[in-house]
Amino acid sequence: VLPTVALVGRPNVGKSTLFNRIAEERISIVEDTPGVTRDRIYTHAEWLGKQFNLIDTGGITLEEHDLNQEIRSQAEIAIEEADVIVLVVDARVGVTAADEVVAQILFSAHKPIVVAVNKADNLEQRQDIYEFYALGLGDPYPVSGVHGTGMGDLLDQVIQSF
Ligand code: GDP
Ligand code: MG
Repeated sequence: VLPTVALVGRPNVGKSTLFNRIAEERISIVEDTPGVTRDRIYTHAEWLGKQFNLIDTGGITLEEHDLNQEIRSQAEIAIEEADVIVLVVDARVGVTAADEVVAQILFSAHKPIVVAVNKADNLEQRQDIYEFYALGLGDPYPVSGVHGTGMGDLLDQVIQSF
C-alpha cells in the first residue's frame, strides 16, 4: 500500500495547480473563481523513486454551504486518509483566519504536516514567508505552482515524513 499525501487549504490558494505540478500531468482543472473547480482529486505521484497517492481535498464536493465548515470537513478527510498532509497557504495574502482554523485542526491530529506557501513567485516573496511560522506547524516551504519553483524542497520534506 502506497503512502497517501493530501493537499488541504482554503479555495484559491493553488491546491489544484500544485496537484497538477506534483502529478506532472494537467489533470485537475484550475479556475480563477474560488470554489468552483470540478477536479480530479486522486492521482499517483513519485519523487526520488518514492511513490505515493496524492489527494486534492479541495476537489471533494461536500454539501456544506458554509465555507469554513467545508474547509474543516476537507481537513478532517485529509486527517483520516493521509499519512502526510500538505497545508497550502498563499504568500500574497498572508495568514488568514481560515488558515488558522485549518492549522489548528491539523495540529491536533498529530500527523506529519508540511506547510506549502504557494504563489511565492519571486525572490522577495520567497523570503517573506516568516509570518507562516505563526501557524505553529514548522518550517514553511515557499513554492510557486505556476513556475514550479521550490517543489523539490517541498517534496523532499514530504517523502521524509512517510
Ligand atoms: P485551488 O482553489 O486551491 O485549487 O486553487 P487553483 O489551483 O485553482 O488556483 C487558483 C488561482 O491561483 C488560479 O488562478 C491559479 O492560476 C493561481 N495560482 C496557482 N498557483 C499559483 C502560483 O504559484 N503563483 C501565482 N501567481 N498564481 C497561482
Ligand atoms: Mg482546486
